[in-house]
Amino acid sequence: MVRHSKNNTASSVFTYAERQMTGYGTQQRRLGRDAKRGFDTCYLCLSRAREPVMACPQGHVSCRECVLASILEQKQALARDAQQHEARLARDRQARESERAASDAREVGRLALHEVGLSGAGGSKRALDEAAAAAAAGGPEDGKRARARTGGSSSSRQSSFWLPSRAPAAEPALRAPGGEVQCHAAAPHRLQLKRLVQVRFRTSAAGDRLCPSCDRALLNSSTIDLLRPCGHVLCHRCTETFVLPAAACFVCQHRIRPSDVVRIASEGTGFAAAGGPMVATRYDSALQA
Ligand SMILES: [Zn+2]
Ligand SMILES: [Zn+2]
Ligand SMILES: [Zn+2]
Ligand SMILES: [Zn+2]
Repeated sequence: MVRHSKNNTASSVFTYAERQMTGYGTQQRRLGRDAKRGFDTCYLCLSRAREPVMACPQGHVSCRECVLASILEQKQALARDAQQHEARLARDRQARESERAASDAREVGRLALHEVGLSGAGGSKRALDEAAAAAAAGGPEDGKRARARTGGSSSSRQSSFWLPSRAPAAEPALRAPGGEVQCHAAAPHRLQLKRLVQVRFRTSAAGDRLCPSCDRALLNSSTIDLLRPCGHVLCHRCTETFVLPAAACFVCQHRIRPSDVVRIASEGTGFAAAGGPMVATRYDSALQA
């Protein structure tokens, strides 16, 4: 019972608790740790990354298999787009040329007719007939072509603009495909296969990811750095304390420049934008009496 010996409807207004119980209105809920993608979770399949790699400059980890499949798929789509674009350009060019040829033929016919008319009595009947035929050739053929373009078989089809199936359709605007392979873990950004790095986590027997330097467990809440040249993963504090001053990896002594350190991103999936406040909002219709 939310209120002692009273119905919900006994009062003209709801108490806060009653309103929460109805589930109407804007519901806000804080999302906990489980709602975020883990730092070692593949942003494509959303499970713990197998053979973790990182190919994007913004620190998104993925399985090797997932990211290669994604790159291949995107490259195929880009190639398909380019092919369609070429075909469309060729089709447009052909249409323009045939249009020009038809208008030339019409013009020639008209001139011939004009000359025959000027020469008057001198022109034979046959010449006049030929000129008329040439002039007529432009007309009906053009009409046929126009109908073929709009897909209709008669002029009444073109005028039925209120029937979507019969209205003449405009071809979509010609857009040059100029895409690149992208990582969709956050706002889309460039993904380069040649920058693919194998991520080497240190994993405990229990399966926890550990910092190889300070032995602390790496969590979603920690700031975690990846050293690009060798792929070792350390906590940010150890990177600052040991790696950057020595300019070498703590584990393998590989030479490290400050630009080689990449922060591993821990949130964002392929299905939703990331980086905003972690609050889910739901809007409902007003309570109907
Ligand atoms: Zn995966
Ligand atoms: Zn990315
Ligand atoms: Zn550490
Ligand atoms: Zn290393």
